[in-house]
Amino acid sequence: MKNYEFWFVVGSQFLYGPEVLETVEARAREMAQELSLSLPFPLVYKVTAKTSDEITRVVKEANYREECAGIITWCHTFSPSKMWLTGLDLLQKPWCHLATQYNQAIPNEEIDMDFMNLNQAAHGDREHGFIGARLRKPRKIIAGFWTDASVRSRLGAWMRTAVGVAVSREMRVMRFGDNMRDVAVTEGDKIEAQKKLGWQVNTWAVGDLVKEMNAVTEAEIDALVKEYEASYDIATDNTAAIRYQAKEEIAIKRMMDHEGCKAFANTFQDLYGMEQLPGLASQHLMALGYGYGGEGDWKVSAMTAILKAMGEGGNGASGFMEDYTYHLIEGQEYSLGAHMLEVCPSLAADKPRIETHHLGIGMNEKDPARLVFEGKAGPAIVVSLIDMGGRLRLIVQDIECVKPILPMPNLPVARVMWRAMPDLTTGVECWITAGGAHHTVLSYDVSAEMMRDWARIMDIEFVHISKDTLPEKLEEELLVKDLIWKLR
Ligand code: MN
Repeated sequence: MKNYEFWFVVGSQFLYGPEVLETVEARAREMAQELSLSLPFPLVYKVTAKTSDEITRVVKEANYREECAGIITWCHTFSPSKMWLTGLDLLQKPWCHLATQYNQAIPNEEIDMDFMNLNQAAHGDREHGFIGARLRKPRKIIAGFWTDASVRSRLGAWMRTAVGVAVSREMRVMRFGDNMRDVAVTEGDKIEAQKKLGWQVNTWAVGDLVKEMNAVTEAEIDALVKEYEASYDIATDNTAAIRYQAKEEIAIKRMMDHEGCKAFANTFQDLYGMEQLPGLASQHLMALGYGYGGEGDWKVSAMTAILKAMGEGGNGASGFMEDYTYHLIEGQEYSLGAHMLEVCPSLAADKPRIETHHLGIGMNEKDPARLVFEGKAGPAIVVSLIDMGGRLRLIVQDIECVKPILPMPNLPVARVMWRAMPDLTTGVECWITAGGAHHTVLSYDVSAEMMRDWARIMDIEFVHISKDTLPEKLEEELLVKDLIWKLR
């Protein structure tokens, strides 16, 4: 990942004299330095803005500089907003308005009119907020004292979201083969996805992949198998299957890296010239941060790569997931999620095992090697991007993952068990009402708030199914949004 940074742009004006401006600048520098210590990316102080030209200049530079993933603004004093208009209108990077102030408490004895003129964020940030609303500019608003843990944590989450925007705008997806025949939800308008989200989604021949596989050397396979051995328990004697997966992984990675792709999709219906569906290969590539989607699902593949980049350390606990089957015993209602092979080991509670089993679906001549494990317990989300025809809809559901309540010893794939919000069956009704796919990205470290912020910046529809969702309200919400998005 690039070395992203964020820019701190502080609003003021000439009215209060040079001394006040010096104080504002010194404090803004101090705040940026102090905040950087506990944020996932550096916050770089840029300017105490007093004129339209200064603001326009810094915005143009922010748009141009690749390392700048977004700007954070704050008005220490009053800062008349007509001078922000031209600059903000040009802004193409994510914007967060931090409504804070330098001092935490009102100093009872010290407070006089000089103090009031210097510490005016309470009205400066309102003037600043007006121009954001007037321009209909997407922005994140975070209010609170700047050193509070909750403010820093929300700023950090927004920074990760903004990096998700940067990663999305550079996303390239490598498709091997088309979507699975006759499936609707994995289809979509690739032009719309490129226009709105920046994704370049293109196809490469499976034959080219086979050619690349044939060029992989035994020494390269040895080295990757050593990596597998260091990370996973080997629970099979079929070393040929593991080596075959290593060969597939090296070839897929080589093709993706050559084309600058961060995500890929394939389908079991098109493995011409391959002995096995990539299982372990896809799982280890996801562990490295690449996105993956089964059955040609390029939308979920790109979303997987983006959510991974938004997570801890730029490669978090997010992975491609599919709703498979339910446990509907009263009081123990759960979804069982898995895939025919490709579940990301970043979701695992313990060290995954490499196993080989027969796979009846698709063109597998040999038993594919795959990682088998149980998913972690804890709060998480599932995310689905669907094409509604004329627009994209992002659906996010809060879920509570549990340690799978059954050992399921004959299930030959990784598995995650969870309860959807508000409860399993209502949650399923809401999901189906919204049109959510069977494929999702499941994430333990990206929140629904982050996805809402991401959707706002990307200018796509957002639907959140939470513990407070009522099916009848959701239906109304979808009806209203359908009208609004048709008008836009
Ligand atoms: Mn699937």
